[in-house]
Amino acid sequence: MNEVPAIDLSPAEFQRRLLSWFDRHGRKTLPWQHDKTPYRVWVSEIMLQQTQVTTVIPYYERFMARFPDVRALAAASQDEVLHLWTGLGYYARGRNLHKAARMVVDEHGGEFPVHSLEAMAALPGIGRSTAGAIISISTGRRALILDGNVKRVLTRLHGVAGWPGRPQVERVLWRLAERYTPSERLPHYTQAMMDLGATVCSRGKPSCLLCPFEDVCTAHARGEERRFPESKPKKALPERQAVMLLLQDAQGRVLLEQRPSVGLWGGLWCFPQFDDGEALQAWLDTHAPDAEVEAGWNAFTHTFSHFRLVIIPQPARCRRAPAVNDAGSLWYDPDRPANVGLASPVKALLASLVQHRLNDPRSPLTQESEP
Ligand code: SF4
Repeated sequence: MNEVPAIDLSPAEFQRRLLSWFDRHGRKTLPWQHDKTPYRVWVSEIMLQQTQVTTVIPYYERFMARFPDVRALAAASQDEVLHLWTGLGYYARGRNLHKAARMVVDEHGGEFPVHSLEAMAALPGIGRSTAGAIISISTGRRALILDGNVKRVLTRLHGVAGWPGRPQVERVLWRLAERYTPSERLPHYTQAMMDLGATVCSRGKPSCLLCPFEDVCTAHARGEERRFPESKPKKALPERQAVMLLLQDAQGRVLLEQRPSVGLWGGLWCFPQFDDGEALQAWLDTHAPDAEVEAGWNAFTHTFSHFRLVIIPQPARCRRAPAVNDAGSLWYDPDRPANVGLASPVKALLASLVQHRLNDPRSPLTQESEP
């Protein structure tokens, strides 16, 4: 795996073909493609990790309207940042973004250290490829990128075998990135590589006939486009179970607790969670003895990268809401939502609770008001 499989294409010809394809077909009007400051490029790059452009655009615009620069982001609370991140998933990205903004303000005087790849890559959530993308797009200086789109193009073009997460395979791909990256038009080259991977050399069904490398591509010549890049060797995901208590008070407010800042759904707000129904009942006996447990809802599965969580929602109502005095709990009013980050299954369950309430004759929403 030390040798890069060759194709009949010089770096200069690779760059010429790619950039003329970009001039005709590349994306040039995305919200982060004007006013390309390191801050704006950084936020877009982090949001675009594992998320499609069309999903990112409205989140990006809301985020920029609320946090127009790195100082505004650094001054915000984590809750507010995660609130604007709710629905984008992979919440560690939001937490790292916030931490990195504070580091840029505290340690770099509010300026991104774009003069140094190492200093950029040392910021939370910014690896070598993201640092390269931010530097090349925002300053025009030569820096390499190797994100998922670029890995897909390069593995297919050269027929590079092996899962790109393996260090030996990744080394080969960095060498290819080094070979092809030009010394001019860096913002366009970087954007072009990402665009080609996202729009032509796509994961499921590459449009090889529209590709500037169709005549030299190894995977295409072999009819094996879908074989590259090779997938991570699969392990069966373990399964865990969580019983979530959907406890409503007489006003329809719902009890939420904040997760610890590290770990699963770190810093987000969730329903109280238990290993089983017995533990849930013991908690109710202590904290809300007048609560009535209702019929349980159907269980569903939420898949994380390393395990599957079977969620069993258990609604209950109490007349007297137990007081919550500590900063880690709140009575959440779905009609007047607080600015807090919610894990996506929690957001979906809150919407279902509101729906149930609308159909429920005992709900304050459907009761006749007193004369
Ligand atoms: S020819 Fe097809 S598989 Fe090869 S790089 Fe182009 S789009 Fe990807």
